[in-house]
Amino acid sequence: MEYEVVIGLEVHAELATQSKIYCNCTTEFGGDPNTHCCPICMGMPGVLPVLNKKVVEYAIKAGLATNCRIAAFSKQDRKNYFYPDLPKAFQTSQYDLPLCYDGHVDVEVDGLVKKIGITRIHIEEDAGKLLHDAWSGDTLIDYNRGGVPLIEIVTEPDMRSAEEVRAFFEKLKAILEYTGVSDCKMQEGSLRADVNLSVRPKGQAEYGTRTEMKNLNSIRAIVRAVESEAKRQISEIEYGGMIVQETRRWDDAKGESYSMRSKEEAHDYRYFPEPDLCPIEVDENWMKDIQASIPELPDARRKRYIQDYGIPEYDASFITASKDLADFFEEAAKSGDNIKAISNWIMGDLSKKLNDNNLEPSQIPFCPEHLSKLVGLIDSNIISGKIAKQVFDFMWDTGKDPADIVEEKGLRVVTDTDAIRGVVLEVLQANPKTIEDIKKGKAKSIGFLIGQIMRETKGKADPQTVRSILTEELEKY
Ligand code: ADP
Ligand code: MG
Ligand code: ZN
Repeated sequence: MEYEVVIGLEVHAELATQSKIYCNCTTEFGGDPNTHCCPICMGMPGVLPVLNKKVVEYAIKAGLATNCRIAAFSKQDRKNYFYPDLPKAFQTSQYDLPLCYDGHVDVEVDGLVKKIGITRIHIEEDAGKLLHDAWSGDTLIDYNRGGVPLIEIVTEPDMRSAEEVRAFFEKLKAILEYTGVSDCKMQEGSLRADVNLSVRPKGQAEYGTRTEMKNLNSIRAIVRAVESEAKRQISEIEYGGMIVQETRRWDDAKGESYSMRSKEEAHDYRYFPEPDLCPIEVDENWMKDIQASIPELPDARRKRYIQDYGIPEYDASFITASKDLADFFEEAAKSGDNIKAISNWIMGDLSKKLNDNNLEPSQIPFCPEHLSKLVGLIDSNIISGKIAKQVFDFMWDTGKDPADIVEEKGLRVVTDTDAIRGVVLEVLQANPKTIEDIKKGKAKSIGFLIGQIMRETKGKADPQTVRSILTEELEKY
């Protein structure tokens, strides 16, 4: 039997506002526990929330950038549940009248464009954080995150594979970054996703029963969770079992999920309209202003890069997936003329460094001009491609100008023919057997000699000069 996987996401993004959703406390990440809070965000009795206008503005921005309709009238509701990280015993959210609805995001997988529906985007507040101290057995609570504004983006069950989920999530993340709505730092929990997944026999019209995996905080974890849960459900059905609607926790270290609670144990949140906050009415002119403030989005940028810079579609997609990377590329391109080489460095060595060091493109430790300068040094034959990798490492570690690094470290290509000839003669003298082989027709051995010469010159000899001098000298034997 062939199965089809069906996936819908609920994505939470912390908004990049300065202050919290209902008070003036800072939204800054970290800080000593319980130093970013006040009676309002700690839910003391008798306090009154005041909605932060920026929160509405950012949510509308996210809505417009994902082709949503914006509700002229919406309201906030109490979602009642008790949990120690939520001292009010209810979360202020939006229930039946969300701020944005009925949108979509286009994603491309295997050359095909697919529309992923956005059911709704609503605003809500984040909860505090529980810290379980394994040593003492105590649980400590940090309310700094309580009241940090969130948007929840709910998709239609429109995705059919892990690749589509990845493409959608990356696109959504890029849109949120480009619009400045969220910093999207997944390692700090600014962006996280719940994965809803079901399977059904291919061709069946009705959806199967779904499970939900909550709070996945890396793209890798999302993709792995999708693949693993699809497999688990299919094998469950194949062995005659049934899928129960439940919440599962994904353990990324183990690479498996386990059941947390079933639908029967699910909360009844008893939503009701928040009486302390008035409804949100969005003025037409305000919406136009917000629309006008939306910058060029990833798709438009990608097309522009292909047209204006002549880089391949693949490169343009890769680079524009991150706004910071795209900004870096654009700056570098301004001061360089070998754009494709700049793109190659960004996709290759630079991205690898970022990954290896678990850094975001905003944290690249050297400036874009230095990358185009590095490319210029290679193109004007001042350093070899191999040495350039070393220079790149120094740039990464020190932030210094590559031209200065080359001078300081004496990394210039040696084109001085006398110096190179000296090394060639030394190497030839040390390898009579290889010369014999070459004379007998084993042309491959020339490569071995070149390798020796390059090693002697620490990779700095100009390869072309080496080759021609070596050929010259070999003829004398
Ligand atoms: P709830 O409010 O209980 O979380 P929703 O109906 O709002 O439920 O759906 C939440 C998410 O689950 C949405 O992203 C939706 O696309 C997804 N979803 C709903 N039904 C299915 C299904 N059968 N298979 C996969 N995903 C589903
Ligand atoms: Mg849900
Ligand atoms: Zn506060």
